[in-house]
Amino acid sequence: MSTPNVRIADMTWYEFADRVKENPIVLLPTGSVEQHGPHLPLLTDVILPVTVAEAVAAEIGGMVAPAVSYGYKSQPKSGGGNHFPGTLSLDAGVFIGLVRNIINELVRHGARKIVLFDGHMENQWFLVEAADLALRDQAMLGRHDVKIIKLGYWDFINKATEAVLFPDGFPSWELEHAAVMETSIMLHVRPDLVRQDKIPDDPAADFPPYDVYPFDTRPIPPTGVLSSAKSASAEKGAAVLAQVVPDIAASLRAAFGPQSD
Ligand code: ZN
Ligand code: MN
Repeated sequence: MSTPNVRIADMTWYEFADRVKENPIVLLPTGSVEQHGPHLPLLTDVILPVTVAEAVAAEIGGMVAPAVSYGYKSQPKSGGGNHFPGTLSLDAGVFIGLVRNIINELVRHGARKIVLFDGHMENQWFLVEAADLALRDQAMLGRHDVKIIKLGYWDFINKATEAVLFPDGFPSWELEHAAVMETSIMLHVRPDLVRQDKIPDDPAADFPPYDVYPFDTRPIPPTGVLSSAKSASAEKGAAVLAQVVPDIAASLRAAFGPQSD
């Protein structure tokens, strides 16, 4: 996938300085290093938002900052839990401080339109806190023109695409961990990283309506996959991206105003 002039990581400082003068939308992908079953890599929650963010940025003339690859602790009901080998998580205070610091750095260099582009559900309230604290930092510096949007790309999947993904009924985005949606997009964008002979077909996990700490691991499927990934396909992954990328681009254009293109 070629995305020239989108990745900040690939720019020289001269190119960055030129681009940031135009006040582009800057997307910061956030993810996690987290088990994704026997068939997907630990960096799935980073690969997916980076892929979607780069495609969106190409449509809106935006820039994608290097991702925050570590995230908040995996929870049983949305990520299988923090106890799986290879799940490397941050304490909330560290994650909030890291994202707040990166936002302030982007603003220091001229960015005013920032998108926290999440790929890991457990990050969401800590992204809210990071945005709130960074806006407070900026207000104390007398700067009131910074706008931040926080989104999870899966929230843009519309009913029609949902029907393509789940012809037999939609479980929930939480139970979708390492299941049909994530496996399908990975089959589309990084098939080399999907262990196709190991795609699990476990029944959906059945959790009680409360959370137990330390984790009660009994309701957690031993594979770490929270519902069947069997019906995943590259075609479904392509359908998700074809719908979600232009819809996120349109939402960001609308949210940041008419000059954002
Ligand atoms: Zn995931
Ligand atoms: Mn996750």
